[in-house]
Amino acid sequence: MAATPPTAEARALLDRAAQAGVHRLAILTPFAVGRVNCWLIDDEPLTLLDTGPNSGKALDAVERALADHGRRVEDLERIVVSHQHMDHEGLVEILARRSGAEVCAIALLAPWLARFGDEMEADDVFGAQMMLRHGLPHDVVRVLRAVSAAFRGWGAPATVTRELYHGGTLDFAARTLRVWHRPGHSPTDTVLHDEEAGLLLAADHLIHHISSNPLLTRPRDGEGGARPRALMIYLESMAATRAMEGVEVVLPGHGEPFTDPAGLLDERVRMHERRAAKIAGLVRHEPRTAYELGQALWGNVAVTQAYLCLSEVLGHVDLLLDRGEIVEEDAGEGVVRFSAA
Ligand SMILES: [Zn+2]
Repeated sequence: MAATPPTAEARALLDRAAQAGVHRLAILTPFAVGRVNCWLIDDEPLTLLDTGPNSGKALDAVERALADHGRRVEDLERIVVSHQHMDHEGLVEILARRSGAEVCAIALLAPWLARFGDEMEADDVFGAQMMLRHGLPHDVVRVLRAVSAAFRGWGAPATVTRELYHGGTLDFAARTLRVWHRPGHSPTDTVLHDEEAGLLLAADHLIHHISSNPLLTRPRDGEGGARPRALMIYLESMAATRAMEGVEVVLPGHGEPFTDPAGLLDERVRMHERRAAKIAGLVRHEPRTAYELGQALWGNVAVTQAYLCLSEVLGHVDLLLDRGEIVEEDAGEGVVRFSAA
């Protein structure tokens, strides 16, 4: 898929970032989302935020994109990982080995990257349990397990050599980036704020052309075995970003840079409220499983999208459960459904 050329406005924002020494490397991925934006921060140390997936093609693209800025992989001194998804972390280890760059990520992400394969397998086991519990047909769950296993090679384990902290800083010769943990799309989403330049490197926390999925994730140690309520966590993160001052331009993990994050965040919150209201209406009409709710909302989606749909439905279901508008009940055979409270 060819990259759509940026609009004049996006081009101007990319130029503005480039003047501040932050350059976009748009790397093709095999995923539906298309290209991933990696950001080269031309400062000391020379830093790359995110890497693209683990493939020869992506590595070649990174090499060519670096060459456009007069740099080689060997010149990289620091690699920062924004979150745990394969399109962002796949090449970290390869690039770090070749360059000797330090690898930075928030502390929560470090053990996850170290045990990438095991973590992904555990996620898949949990995902399959969730899908069955929420009424997805067994054959769909089987196919998704196979698809996920086949895709896993686009990611890879990586060794984090420096852990970052929420509210801490990442220092350069000519700038300081403030580090904020913004979970929701994934448990490890991290954004970097250049307060002086007014830039927010937002990765997948905030994307203009698509609403990031609040992905259903496995409970972590110390969470008492309860499934994290991803959309509620995400809404909290969005509110934290909404309250930030000094964000003039957002440089996202996919698509074009944009201004007015507050306007976009308000729009996203309204969209989630509308969706929650719609789900509450469907449940009032008759009790339904999360799978049935997804079908009522979006029809029969592609099998590969089934997990994303379930995540989206459950995110809103969590909101309604929390507000006491709906309740969960047993639908038999290990499946649960939701009915009006
Ligand atoms: Zn992504």
